[in-house]
Amino acid sequence: MPELPEVETTARSLRPRIVGRRVTAVGGVDWPRMLPNTTEADLQDALRGDRVSAVDRRGKYLLVGFDDDTWVIVHRKMSGNLLLVPHACPVELHTHLIVRLEGDQDLRFVDARKFGRVYLFRSRDQMEDFLAERLGPDSLTDLDEALLAARLKKRKGRIKSLLLDQAFLAGVGNLYADEALWEARLHPLRTADSLSTREVYRLARAIKLVLTMGIERRGTSFSSYRDSDGTPGENQEFLNAYGREGQPCPRCGTAIVRMVIGQRSAFFCPKEQKLRG
Ligand SMILES: [Zn+2]
Repeated sequence: MPELPEVETTARSLRPRIVGRRVTAVGGVDWPRMLPNTTEADLQDALRGDRVSAVDRRGKYLLVGFDDDTWVIVHRKMSGNLLLVPHACPVELHTHLIVRLEGDQDLRFVDARKFGRVYLFRSRDQMEDFLAERLGPDSLTDLDEALLAARLKKRKGRIKSLLLDQAFLAGVGNLYADEALWEARLHPLRTADSLSTREVYRLARAIKLVLTMGIERRGTSFSSYRDSDGTPGENQEFLNAYGREGQPCPRCGTAIVRMVIGQRSAFFCPKEQKLRG
């Protein structure tokens, strides 16, 4: 599932290639439920003739701004990919939206599992309201040691569940949460109120590190994630815990274990990430 580094990678690669380009056509919607607050006709009406003015990211959402303050948000969820391809390129299976740009390039939303969503907003304020209801501080741009300590204060939940809660901290998903907890040597079931200040600071630095390295390696391609030009990321070659059940911990050699927490897998080193108390 694309998390912050994958969405950031897509934003960075799309930005120089689509900002300034005008939309000439919108179509290809074969799955109306992917448009929770709009329709293909509304998208056509809002975007045709409009020029892309910004490509941004908030949490795991990709934001595309237009000249007249129209905004489109793409939430890729499980398997969504946003590809920029020449218009002549055959339309691949599971393409659910095509935005044609001047210069004969298509921005195509391809999503085999159909959990991805595309939203339309008529102003930045409208979009900000939508984001504010769903997202806490951004784990790349807003997070630091003091902020994490303040967010964790008076919280009692398990640390891994808090990290996955986008309203607590936006951008981290299952994979980067496991990697950050491994980096910080914290058991995923530790409760927020059991963490020492030193551990909280270690976790804040670990989150920053795994996200930054993930972006540097252009994201993790476990299943279907691809960059906007269709290339997979490289971070899957560098994972320390996630998906490595039974393989040696890169730090101490102990076999990584897998545990199910809230119906999701958690991978950690049982020797260094201890559940105390
Ligand atoms: Zn270890």
